Amino acid sequence: MSQVELPAPVKAAVLCDALPYIRRFAGRTVVVKYGGNALMAVDGSAAPILPVTTGPDGREASGRETEALKRFAEDVVLLRSIGILPVVVHGGGPQIGSLMKRLGKVPEFHDGLRVTDAETLEIARMVLVGKVNRDIVGMINVHGPLAVGLSGEDAGLITATARDPQLGYVGDVGAVDPSIIHRLVAEGLVPVIATIGSDRAGQAYNINADTVAGAIAETLKAEKLVFLTDVEGIRSSSDDPATLLHRLSADELDAMVASGAVAEGMVPKATACTHAVRHGVAAAHVLDGRVTHAILLELLTSEGVGTMVVAQ
Ligand code: ADP
Ligand code: MG
Repeated sequence: MSQVELPAPVKAAVLCDALPYIRRFAGRTVVVKYGGNALMAVDGSAAPILPVTTGPDGREASGRETEALKRFAEDVVLLRSIGILPVVVHGGGPQIGSLMKRLGKVPEFHDGLRVTDAETLEIARMVLVGKVNRDIVGMINVHGPLAVGLSGEDAGLITATARDPQLGYVGDVGAVDPSIIHRLVAEGLVPVIATIGSDRAGQAYNINADTVAGAIAETLKAEKLVFLTDVEGIRSSSDDPATLLHRLSADELDAMVASGAVAEGMVPKATACTHAVRHGVAAAHVLDGRVTHAILLELLTSEGVGTMVVAQ
């Protein structure tokens, strides 16, 4: 698991140091959103979803994706093994974009926003549910029969509403029915959720994974909501890593969204963080998913990596 071989007494000390954190979080739910960018970019570069290589286990994956996923899967399994209840929500925007490009599908825009037509929705659903979700579930289950993959369409988990009819099948979360999650978690399983929802008529919608992760964390009254992305956390100046902020209140983060200091893909994360901590989630974190074992560092050590968002 680890790259450096530590002397046995050091390993024992590390385990003991984690004890207070293990006791504190055992039996608590942690919702982890695994970003499409973190999934791809172990070394910071974008690896295409295709072409693919076939690994010794016969599964298709590029080398970089496989490595990132392996480490993530280890973290999830470790958390579950020490009694923490992880629920995984994943994105896949870059992977959808990559397949669309290969299929020669030209993205359409309305007022600068991408339109999700029926064909785009079909591609998004295939990639998220049929590829990214399967890859994460498969990698976790290398360690034992733990993960169960779900789409928001399953067992009424996510009822979607259309965000703006002119944008096509882009949805918002109308309601979350957590029954299926409770049932899986009660059986000791780890739900892995692809963020396609459906409306009451059965029409599918693609929903932003950050938004879904926030809504699920709130519904479950999770202890933590953790975003694993491709930057080390929220910066006061978006392109300067030296401006990483370690702790923010919901009001401070709202102000950063209003001023434009938080932009692009960080906006739905920030909005989910502030909403979640105001609605029963103890803390939300934005961490660098490219850093090996980032979740373990955050949850089980006093290190505190990335940005922590709290209500006050
Ligand atoms: P993910 O796949 O994890 O959802 P996104 O690309 O959607 O990743 O969102 C993360 C991106 O948000 C970062 O790579 C960065 O370019 C952008 N960003 C915008 N504002 C900020 C900020 N204030 N601090 C950090 N990142 C920011
Ligand atoms: Mg994003």
